[in-house]
Amino acid sequence: MASFTLHGIPVSRGIAIGRAHLIAPAALEVKHYLIDEQQVEAEVARLQDAIATVNRELQAIWSGLPKDSPAELGAFIDVHALILSDPMIAETPLEIIRTRHYNAEWALVTQIDELSTQFDEIGDAYLRERKADIQQVGERVLKVLTGTASAMTSLSAANTDAHLIVVAHDISPADMLQFRDRAFSGFVTDVGGQNSHTAIVARSLDIPAAVGMFNASALIAQDDWVIIDGDAGVVIVDPGALVLEQYRERQARQQRERKKLGKLKKTPAVTRDGTPITLLANIEFPDDCAAALDAGANGVGLFRSEFLFMNRTGAVNKLPSEDEQFESYRKAVVAMKGRPVTIRTLDIGADKPLDIAEQTALNPALGLRAIRYCLAEPQMFLAQLRAILRASAFGPIKLLVPMLAHAFEIDQTLAMIEQAKAQLTAARKNFDPAIQVGAMIEIPAAALTLPLFIKRLDFLSIGTNDLIQYTLAIDRVDHEVAHLYNPLHPAILYLVSSIISLGAKAGIPVSVCGEMAGDTKLTRLLLGMGLREFSMHPAQLLAVKQEILGSDLTVLVPQTRKIMRTMEPAAIAEAVEQLRTM
Ligand code: PEP
Ligand code: MG
Repeated sequence: MASFTLHGIPVSRGIAIGRAHLIAPAALEVKHYLIDEQQVEAEVARLQDAIATVNRELQAIWSGLPKDSPAELGAFIDVHALILSDPMIAETPLEIIRTRHYNAEWALVTQIDELSTQFDEIGDAYLRERKADIQQVGERVLKVLTGTASAMTSLSAANTDAHLIVVAHDISPADMLQFRDRAFSGFVTDVGGQNSHTAIVARSLDIPAAVGMFNASALIAQDDWVIIDGDAGVVIVDPGALVLEQYRERQARQQRERKKLGKLKKTPAVTRDGTPITLLANIEFPDDCAAALDAGANGVGLFRSEFLFMNRTGAVNKLPSEDEQFESYRKAVVAMKGRPVTIRTLDIGADKPLDIAEQTALNPALGLRAIRYCLAEPQMFLAQLRAILRASAFGPIKLLVPMLAHAFEIDQTLAMIEQAKAQLTAARKNFDPAIQVGAMIEIPAAALTLPLFIKRLDFLSIGTNDLIQYTLAIDRVDHEVAHLYNPLHPAILYLVSSIISLGAKAGIPVSVCGEMAGDTKLTRLLLGMGLREFSMHPAQLLAVKQEILGSDLTVLVPQTRKIMRTMEPAAIAEAVEQLRTM
């Protein structure tokens, strides 16, 4: 067979080479038949038994999770258990059996299809990905009903001498977990995006992956040789000997580099000319602090607190209480053993809606998001502020406020922090009265009126993900404009460098906590602009440190000045590339 290449979305780095292991969706194999009235209750019981079996399976996976598993993994299983117990899966199909006399499999597939259609109509990328969770739960029940071997058993029975690349229309996070300790070295799926649960799991497990490959599962045959280039989102099927050899070399090189990086954990991040650089971690949950410490982070530069508010069991709109939040924040600050933890207040909205059903804004990224939402919900905001303040009695915490654009928003936020402090004082609760407050600079208006922020706040953190989205007017989750998302656009370079230099002049600390900070291709450029604090996903930290150790600011600063005078994109790209050789 001739070799061919498929292009999708890269979600997890690295190269995987192996034989394709196809997982067919159980739904395709389902039998459809009508049952007699006398069979109805037996058929209902059959479906109930299957649901109960899946429930037990999920519990077993949950309790079998290794202690060092990323926190998201347990959460994903919780989500699936929750869907399984929801009446939409646990009851409606039973009704379909009773009223329409469908066999159990058909009744279940009918309901899953109905739910999928409803999700398709929502049009929001994040929500569309939640549809996958419902389908994955449905598939598990179908597998039990049809007696199909589970993905795990069929995989372990398959040839284990070669590395296996799982190819599927979609893979549930729970199934991925079971693949983890087996001969499983990568995965390819037809559906999914950057935000899909499966992509998140792949990243936290560090498994090369490419998603959004459209019809890969139809084009790739069982046992085909497959290369996943997880950095590029490319899958090469049945590569020629030469290509295979090249990728094997690249893979071996990457593995050697990783091993080498591990030795840098305790090495201080200092440039060749002796300038110390602070490397911080971005986390979503308190348990991520272990990965941050393991990578040698100097602290947490961005704790995205909204993840505590999302995917919650129970009612959709149930917010974590002040005490529950306090426990999470305290856990993080205690885990970091005296290193600073920067907690960002709730950044809900846009692609992270709190209540799926209430997401009605035409342009949610321009809507009631982050601090706008918090100022509109003062009781909720005050509860979060009190929780963060209370945790500040247990270690150094900084408060970071997202999406500020107006002076009055800063003033209102500061007033609310004072109010929260007064409430705690009245309740005789301890907190750090001198807690530092900073702003995310991620709206161009904020970047262009920086003195307003410098005057009022203790530190700044540049959110390049949103700064790029809003400056270039491209939705960061829309794959159709993904090619326009360019951190090297001269407008972005101008904004980022002016924020850094104005901050330095005013003597106010500035960090970058967007994805630019973890991109090794940009490390030297940011150093040359004067950046001294980088915050990124723990997995990127050592590679960035390595770049820093090889950098000389006496060379980078004048070279970066030259780049800043350039407007031509090609010249900028070339000059930034050259910085890495200096
Ligand atoms: C950013 O916008 O760059 C950022 C760090 O925040 P988030 O990605 O959570 O919007
Ligand atoms: Mg942001």
